[in-house]
Amino acid sequence: MKVIIVGGVAGGASCAARLRRLDEKAEILMVERGPYVSYANCGLPYHIGGVIEKESSLLVASERTFREQFNVDCRVNCEAIKISPDKKTVDLRNVTTGNITTESYDKLVLSPGAPSIRPPLPGIDLPGIFQVRTVPDARAIREWIEKGSLFLSGMNSYSGFQTVRPKTRAVVIGGGFIGLETAENFVHRGFDVTLVEMGDQVLAPLDQEMARIVEGYVEKHGIRLALNDGVAGFQQAANDTLSVLTKSGKSYPADIVILALGVRPDTTLAKTAGLEIGQRGGIRVDDQMRTSNPDIFAVGDAVEIKDFVTGEWSLIALAGPANRQGRIAADVIAGRDSRFRGSQGTSIIGLFGAAAAWTGASEKTLTRIGDKDYEKIYLYPNSHAGYYPGAKPIAMKVLFRKTDGRLLGAQALGEDNVDKRISALAVALQMGATIYDLEETELCYAPQFGSAKDPVNFAGMVAADVLRGDMPLSHWKTAKAEFLLDVREPAELAVENVPEAVHIPIGQLRARLAELPRDREIHVICRSGQRAYIVTRMLLQNGFKAKTVSGGMLSLAHNYLLDAH
Ligand SMILES: Cc1cc2nc3c(=O)[nH]c(=O)nc-3n(C[C@H](O)[C@H](O)[C@H](O)COP(=O)(O)OP(=O)(O)OC[C@H]3O[C@@H](n4cnc5c(N)ncnc54)[C@H](O)[C@@H]3O)c2cc1C
Repeated sequence: MKVIIVGGVAGGASCAARLRRLDEKAEILMVERGPYVSYANCGLPYHIGGVIEKESSLLVASERTFREQFNVDCRVNCEAIKISPDKKTVDLRNVTTGNITTESYDKLVLSPGAPSIRPPLPGIDLPGIFQVRTVPDARAIREWIEKGSLFLSGMNSYSGFQTVRPKTRAVVIGGGFIGLETAENFVHRGFDVTLVEMGDQVLAPLDQEMARIVEGYVEKHGIRLALNDGVAGFQQAANDTLSVLTKSGKSYPADIVILALGVRPDTTLAKTAGLEIGQRGGIRVDDQMRTSNPDIFAVGDAVEIKDFVTGEWSLIALAGPANRQGRIAADVIAGRDSRFRGSQGTSIIGLFGAAAAWTGASEKTLTRIGDKDYEKIYLYPNSHAGYYPGAKPIAMKVLFRKTDGRLLGAQALGEDNVDKRISALAVALQMGATIYDLEETELCYAPQFGSAKDPVNFAGMVAADVLRGDMPLSHWKTAKAEFLLDVREPAELAVENVPEAVHIPIGQLRARLAELPRDREIHVICRSGQRAYIVTRMLLQNGFKAKTVSGGMLSLAHNYLLDAH
């Protein structure tokens, strides 16, 4: 059996390696248009920032590794330009010489990825404008930065000396992963950084009120955000610099511009074979990664896959799914019955020592598809036991089904151990867990690592309290118009206050119940929701109608930012 794999990075390389492990006899040819196979594109922003100093550290496995360890005929600088499905051949072009050869296949695997979006804007080809996708891209950026800009300062022109001014102003276009990671790395290098984003938030998969926390955090660390403004074009300015022009009429001076406008599935080659392309623009595959042609498989960023929660076709450009899909395609080619379960879009981004991570559906996705059978909770547990030094709050939002408690999605932000909470929730979600399962999940605990009630358990307990009716819930959006009871201590009110709330500290409440209305719903607030829950229980058992405002003042902070922005 002869298998040709197109694309030698995440999906393609893992397919080749897996196939060899399963079938010692298969003839495997892997072609890669670029100069490297199996490189760590996820590390590119950190190479630009100098965190990963050596370029060679990004090269996970070489062409030689594939030849020697895996007996794979691995060809770099080799582009697949045409598939003839009737003849089962692929035309290959040697990028260096231009020579075209034809190879036959029994099975073909496409893993061509998703190139960066590069709209035809005026000036987009000017020197100093880059994208971050490949090792040569990162190299070019580093060289450009290190080159400096020539200019004559007043003093030096007077004295006749020409000086080199280091490049110090970066404008990053696009507030997704790659844009934010690259912006962070420019800050590390001492740049003045502006990030222009057309949408009304960064990190589009997050719900907006959670993204507000990220925005506040990166602004605090030196990234200037320009949201709700699209780039309109670029102009060459004096002294080897650029002007980034936006649709709102603004102009941002830049020594370097990074385009991070997102990616689009590469379907060029698939189209030459007449393969079905889905409504989202990716190659359509079944759960065994088979395209509309049974002998052609496709994996990675180029394919459309089913969203695990909503069942919708979606595009997920992430390394984990690409690697797993490559492995599944190899399994199926080798005769095994492996299947892709769909993707939850589980993701994480690290920024200035903090992390934002999520899995599953966001509230905006559920709203978009008209799903009303969900509830959400906000919670702010400590990353580990509060009495052990170094505990940091984690801001969490968890979404679950009202009818059966099934976990639908989670988002978390914080400076410590966000990843393990979202990873645990991601596993739970894929296993079809409910919030009742989260209550019972047994996780490792010692005070420096977590709490006896880990944030994952805690999320389950809070959500289960809601569904069992022990803690009727309300959210700020509607609570503000209701009877608000603030049970915090006077010192806390001095820091932040909700003027319309009635204030009775929790310790005095049992003695002052007569001050509360029996004909109205009482919406109880505290700092995070914990004391409000205790009071809600107290009031319910005393015959009042009471609800806990989810997340208390902490959730007001970013929900308020949402309105104010
Ligand atoms: C800067 C950056 C940071 C990232 N960070 C993360 C992260 O932190 N976490 C995460 O999960 N994901 C991250 N990703 C995304 C992740 O790298 C991709 O999801 C993953 O690499 C997709 O794998 P793939 O095999 O589909 O495509 P790729 O890995 O992009 O490989 C496709 C390869 O196919 C080659 N190719 C295309 N067409 C042809 C052709 N006709 N002939 C020959 N070769 C061809 C291309 O040259 C390319 O090298 C990041 C991506 C980038 C660019």
